[in-house]
Amino acid sequence: MPILVMKFGGTSVADLDRIRNAAEKVRREVERGYDVIVIVSAMSGKTNELVGWVSKTSPLFDAREYDAVVSSGENVTAGLMSLTLQEMDIPARSWQGWQVPLKTSSAHSSARIVEIPRENIDQKFAEGMKVAVVAGFQGISEEGRITTLGRGGSDTTAVAFAAAFEAERCDIYTDVDGIYTTDPRITKKARKLEKIAFEEMLELASLGAKVLQTRSVELAMRYKVRLRVLSSFEETDETSGTLVCDEEEIMESKVVSGVAYSRDEAKMTLLSVADRPGIAAAIFGPLAHGGINVDMIVQNVSADGRTDMTFSCPVDQVLRAERAMQEAKERGEINFGELVQDTEVCKVSVVGIGMRSHAGVAARMFEALKAENINIKVISTSEIKISVLIDRKYMELAVQALHDAFGLDEAA
Ligand code: ADP
Ligand code: ASP
Ligand code: MG
Repeated sequence: MPILVMKFGGTSVADLDRIRNAAEKVRREVERGYDVIVIVSAMSGKTNELVGWVSKTSPLFDAREYDAVVSSGENVTAGLMSLTLQEMDIPARSWQGWQVPLKTSSAHSSARIVEIPRENIDQKFAEGMKVAVVAGFQGISEEGRITTLGRGGSDTTAVAFAAAFEAERCDIYTDVDGIYTTDPRITKKARKLEKIAFEEMLELASLGAKVLQTRSVELAMRYKVRLRVLSSFEETDETSGTLVCDEEEIMESKVVSGVAYSRDEAKMTLLSVADRPGIAAAIFGPLAHGGINVDMIVQNVSADGRTDMTFSCPVDQVLRAERAMQEAKERGEINFGELVQDTEVCKVSVVGIGMRSHAGVAARMFEALKAENINIKVISTSEIKISVLIDRKYMELAVQALHDAFGLDEAA
């Protein structure tokens, strides 16, 4: 039997009615002749609630216990989905990550998938099971502890299963009907894309477009998984949604194809650090060791042998970053005057493979922000993206202005 992977996000399994609605979509695929692997997220809001409980109990929590707690939302929806399918007379059973077992690294709260052995699930399919419902987002480490794959990780579970089981397609059902030029919640002018290149989606995801987890796009690109995003609330068929595919499959081409944002960023500046060989290593070593996801980095021109070092990181890691820096100072590894924090910033980015061959994108971006009187605090660029750090209160305005400036509401 051909295998299909269907993933349902949090809003798609938010209550029993929605689980039934999702199960109907699964039934249709079973009737078409597929053996289906269903990956479920926790009910929407559940994971946030669990994360909140952990942080309240222990602000600098033990990541192993964090994973034990926050992985639990998916256990509930996996069981309920399986029960719902059984009530429809579809042979189904649920699997938690460790039962598969979905083996991961030991990097708690952002573990990587190492292996998905097929035997257990294949055997059940051979015995007549039609649907394997797997709890997304979770796995098991070599030490036998429960791990999670980072926020949005069920997408990655889905793509990894599609690769391991050589599925015909990996369908990601969510609360929007595809991938748009920007988050449709931010501007009504956002336009749905029929197709998007892996590389562009990879950038958009890593720059904050949470419609797909970055790692899931990486895996799909590497293992050539046919990856599709579509609505769980509408009637859908083979042509619905947005296909993530190779650049060569796409006719439409614009210089900029999307705008992404990441709302909860922080900017931290170490004032007056000695400008000497090894200073960057002395600062960013402890930050890496402390698990801080440093993003942008700027070192100022130095005067009198001293300089300022600025970096950005997710706002919820500021406490850890501060601790790592104070400890490095106490150990005498670095010396700085003051540690200045700006926790009210966000990052807005424009992405497009067309940038490789077009000049002037940065200038157009900065003009558009100037026209709205938005001050840019940090800039970073790569081959196919430009990102700026700005005050969070201007985020929506910046996204809308850039969407207009690059004509994204019009088809190419
Ligand atoms: P799920 O719970 O199904 O995993 P997510 O909330 O993680 O859903 O992702 C879907 C959301 O991603 C949408 O509701 C939308 O607000 C947001 N989003 C951000 N950028 C985009 C984009 N470029 N295209 C579509 N959706 C986007
Ligand atoms: N429930 C997890 C989260 O909210 C994983 C997922 O939904 O993809 O991040
Ligand atoms: Mg998601």
